Formats: sequence, C-alpha cells, structure tokens
Amino acid sequence: MVKENLGQVLKNIEQACQKSGRDPKEVTLIAVSKTKPVPMLEEAYCAGSRDFGENKVQEIMDKYPVLPKDIHWHMIGHLQRNKVKYIVDKVCLIHSVDSLRLAEEISSQAEKKQVEVDILVEVNIAQEESKFGVSKEEAIQLVEAISKLPHIHIQGLMAIAPFVENPEDNRAYFRQIKKLSVDIMKKNIDNVSMSALSMGMTGDYMVAVEEGSTMVRVGTGIFGERNYS
Ligand SMILES: *Cc1c(COP(=O)(O)O)cnc(C)c1O
Repeated sequence: MVKENLGQVLKNIEQACQKSGRDPKEVTLIAVSKTKPVPMLEEAYCAGSRDFGENKVQEIMDKYPVLPKDIHWHMIGHLQRNKVKYIVDKVCLIHSVDSLRLAEEISSQAEKKQVEVDILVEVNIAQEESKFGVSKEEAIQLVEAISKLPHIHIQGLMAIAPFVENPEDNRAYFRQIKKLSVDIMKKNIDNVSMSALSMGMTGDYMVAVEEGSTMVRVGTGIFGERNYS
C-alpha cells in the first residue's frame, strides 16, 4: 500500500510541476511518518524514500538508530529548547524555528556537537492561533537576527496552511509565502538562503507545488490515516 501511495504522490507532484513549468527535481517529497511504526518506514525506504518527517523528538530518537543511515530526518514539529540537544546532530533540517531563543539554543548545541545545522523559519501564514510560527512581518526581523548566529544556517521558510476542504483556498497563502521568500532573498542577508520553501501537505501539496514549494510534507497520503488513540 505504501509503495503504491508513494508512486501516486510522486506522479501528482510531477503533474503539478508540468502544469507550472517546473522541474520535478526541484521538489523533495518528505514522507511524514509520525506515529507510524518502523516497518512502515522500511516499506517507504525500500520504495525509494530517503526523506522522513517527524514532529516529536522522542520519535526521532527511537527511529533514528534502527533505520538506515542514509535517511534524511526532518524535524517538522514544534521544538522545545530543552530537547534541541538530542537531535541537532541527527536531523538534516529543522523546519520549525519560530523564535530567536530557540535558534540560539540550536546554535549553542551545534557548537557543542561540532555540527552545522540547517533550519527554516516557520511562518504562521493565516495567523491561526492554534499554530506556531511567526507573522510575515516578524519573519524578516527573525531571519536577520538568526543570520548572525554561528553554526546555524537559514535555508528558507516553512508554512502550515489552514485545513481546508478545497486546496484552491490555500493558493493565495502559498503565493504570499513565496513572495515573502523572494522579498527576503532580495535583501541579500549574509548566511541566509531562501532556496527552500516547505509547504503543502496531503490535502494541498499539488497547489503548493504549483506555487513554488520545494518540499512537500505528506503523511496521510503515503501512510494512511493516523491513529492517535
Ligand atoms: C502531520 C504533519 C504533516 C502531514 O500531514 P498530512 O495531512 O498527514 O499529510 C505535515 N506537516 C506537519 C508540520 C505535520 O505536523
């Protein structure tokens, strides 16, 4: 099932790229494996997945040692400062940086572990109270402040769009995020790249790709519904 789903998602990404004149190689599919057991991740791995997304530090700690070392782990969930030390040397990208204090902790733990850490700044695009992330206005200030820290490198922006029935309803938000990343890029800030745009989930990743996403985070569409009970 996982293999077939993966194939379908990749086909959809390709189609969205075709429609918008993009190269599918620009888009990384992150298989969001939170709550899913290791054998399901192995199935995805065997079908070709190398990028996995998790939203809990503990789950990364549990899965990291038992899965192949060439997996790129993405931290996509809210990250508490006291847990940064457990994952800075395990993840390839932290998508969810939304405060200077968190960035400072990542920088300091990276120094201790002698690693360089790539991050994205999380933007709360629809200003939803239930979601983490900074406003578009705060984003620029935060990027500028983080850019001065050692051992931490901003690669772009991450956004979680509202849950909607019709993915078209999120198109304007994705467009705003893309525009924000271009505006920040034009500032040519040292130690800041805006090459990555992490947006789009199961319900809306095709629209996100059409609007410039370079990383889609798909869970349900690959692994099926999550069971939280
Ligand atoms: C769970 C999660 C996803 C995946 O959601 P699906 O709708 O299952 O594709 C993507 N991004 C973040 C930040 C998540 O927490």
